[in-house]
Amino acid sequence: MDAGRSFVPLDLAPGELGELLPLVRPAVDRDRAGLGHPEAPLTAGRALIGRLLLAATRTGHAHIRTGHRVTGLVTEDGRVTGVEALTAGGTVRVRARRGVLLAAGGFEGDDAWRAEHRVPGGAAWSMAPRGTNTGEVLRAAVACGATTALMDEAWWCPGTELPDGGAAFTLGLRGGLMVDATGRRFANESLPYDRMGRALAAAQEAGPYAYLVFDSRGGGALPAITVPPTDPAEHLAAGTWVRAQTLPELAGLLGVPAEVLTDTVTRFNGFAATGTDEDHHRGEDPYDLFFADTENAPGPNPCLVPLDRAPYYAARLVLSDLGTKGGLRTDAHARVLGAEDRPLTGLYATGNTSASFTGRVYPGPGVPIGTAMVFASLAVRHMAAQPAPAA
Ligand SMILES: Cc1cc2nc3c(=O)[nH]c(=O)nc-3n(C[C@H](O)[C@H](O)[C@H](O)COP(=O)(O)OP(=O)(O)OC[C@H]3O[C@@H](n4cnc5c(N)ncnc54)[C@H](O)[C@@H]3O)c2cc1C
Repeated sequence: MDAGRSFVPLDLAPGELGELLPLVRPAVDRDRAGLGHPEAPLTAGRALIGRLLLAATRTGHAHIRTGHRVTGLVTEDGRVTGVEALTAGGTVRVRARRGVLLAAGGFEGDDAWRAEHRVPGGAAWSMAPRGTNTGEVLRAAVACGATTALMDEAWWCPGTELPDGGAAFTLGLRGGLMVDATGRRFANESLPYDRMGRALAAAQEAGPYAYLVFDSRGGGALPAITVPPTDPAEHLAAGTWVRAQTLPELAGLLGVPAEVLTDTVTRFNGFAATGTDEDHHRGEDPYDLFFADTENAPGPNPCLVPLDRAPYYAARLVLSDLGTKGGLRTDAHARVLGAEDRPLTGLYATGNTSASFTGRVYPGPGVPIGTAMVFASLAVRHMAAQPAPAA
């Protein structure tokens, strides 16, 4: 379809969750600032997790334990029968009669493992919650004979570098253009974020940063959505954004050749006038139009907005990710596979702990969480269908 096949959860009033509310992670900006939820209803992913918590606890059979960092798997007679976890009170073992389903994210938070598996980007630029998703459970499963795939992969996205060295997920461009460290455009800026991330990774061969260059049409605001939101004044003070009255001055601040950047913008403005991006075909795919300001388009192609109003800005772009997507190899029941594709009895994995069945593409929004939920459900159905071993 040209537009929309995603499910968006209905909002959830915080009061419905009662004492379960602190178990739902707040929005990225509030989470990073150590703030809790605002009074407002929980939306999107927060509403989804809230409802999953209500569903899991309603029966009285689910026990939720926080503060348990799983560090190892317990095996007996060749089957996985539990986990070992580090708690404030020391190491504990939690027994699992039917099986263990690993769903502890990827290893995006571990720079050493990222380097070992050649995952571009960095832990500081990842959008995963800070201080977690460091791959312990993956290592624990590998120690039990699990096999892995796609270990150099992630769900990529462009990131606007933040003054604190982190990154903000950047999507939905309404204007501006992107250049690499040589001052040249390198892709259709309206690409879906995973493909844009891949283009950015390639562009980084020209230098560590790429830049989103924009003019003052939006009053100096970034012509894109960022999560968390960005504050132009903080960026300008920190130097993660620069501003100049002319393009050659802007190029000087970025350290890119002035004539190249000026030519890039002049050529782009020519495309904006004709409506055809002869270099990267921006605006030709229906997806490109999704975030474009079609009502106020100054020219024939709403994705091509000229850059002609001083002052000019450039924001530093880095390669960010929503998590790694390589991990444990699994089958159609989410069973973790060992050598020669033999399932490891009692061990299941889903989400970013498993190697995504989508391989090296991101077929659409909702795939990371959607597939994580589907394979979690398949795993539990498979466990439930097995004869339970003696207690
Ligand atoms: C801003 C933003 C918007 C997004 N929007 C969407 C969207 O609309 N749709 C979509 O499908 N995807 C979306 N994503 C991607 C999606 O959120 C992730 O891909 C998904 O949450 C990954 O799920 P997961 O269960 O594998 O890992 P996570 O959600 O990261 O959960 C892993 C959990 O395991 C815990 N953990 C880690 N290690 C251990 C350990 N050793 N012991 C115990 N616990 C551990 C972590 O603390 C964490 O709570 C978005 C991501 C971001 C950042």
